[in-house]
Amino acid sequence: MIRSHRARGVQLISLITVLVAVVCVLLAGCGVARSQSSATGKLRVAVSINQWSSIARDIGGDHVELTTILTNPNVDAHGFEPQVADVAALDTADIEMVNGAGYDEWATRSVRKSGEILVSAAQSAGVHVGQNPHLWFNAHARTMMARDYTAALTRLRPSARQYFDRRYHQWLVREQKLENRMNALRRATEAGSQPDYVATEAVAWYLARDIGLHDITPTGYTQAIQNDSEPAPSDLASFRHLLASHRARLMILNTQEENSMTRSLEAAAQQSRTPIIRLTESMPPRYSDLLTWMNSLVTQFEDAVKS
Ligand SMILES: [Zn+2]
Repeated sequence: MIRSHRARGVQLISLITVLVAVVCVLLAGCGVARSQSSATGKLRVAVSINQWSSIARDIGGDHVELTTILTNPNVDAHGFEPQVADVAALDTADIEMVNGAGYDEWATRSVRKSGEILVSAAQSAGVHVGQNPHLWFNAHARTMMARDYTAALTRLRPSARQYFDRRYHQWLVREQKLENRMNALRRATEAGSQPDYVATEAVAWYLARDIGLHDITPTGYTQAIQNDSEPAPSDLASFRHLLASHRARLMILNTQEENSMTRSLEAAAQQSRTPIIRLTESMPPRYSDLLTWMNSLVTQFEDAVKS
């Protein structure tokens, strides 16, 4: 869902932020904690959501100490409320890596110490609030994020420039391989007839677009889901008709946001024998990194498009 933070969450975060600040002043110990690096001499990198953690690790390597705030794929990322320790991790980081575009506003609002660098996928890719925020599915955003993160690491630790550059290029080779697969699939998709799909939620929208698929989900349905409201019966009927009439070649199902409505759409897809791509917003724990996950999704799409 694209809905932004909840007001209650913001109030809570503000309160926590104030409390942390007061405790810091009382203990006068935060000056030490806020030095340029951790006790181990590593740069502290705080990542808001697990989708971006592997890039932070793959490029930062031994020079970073990584903290990921939201790692549980069963937690609704949009309505997440960080704990005191989460806020502290964000506030004391040397580099804060966030998604942006309203997706993780609780992270972008943290108090930043001087010299701390914010790397935001939305800023790097030029995506704004109101546009689809699921940027880890977006090849351009991934590459821009990796580039800006590498620049941030190099700025804070210029002596390790070659180390970061090498790891960035190793990462880039893997990203390129993934994009080559996506481009090949796009050619196959576009050569075939009817590259249309419907989605219970516009999570993998960028990925589907990049492999040549068209989203024909009823606009009213998509907007209702984005606004966290009930789709109108007429939009649900249109959705079902697209499946029953085989207008939609496949259906994307966000299993992280399942409810009786998505289950009935899933049943409708099964009845019309429409292939279903099941995915989540957060990176499932069985994948070691973002690109492995994306490659496995591309395989799923390849199978669905060929069937
Ligand atoms: Zn979402």
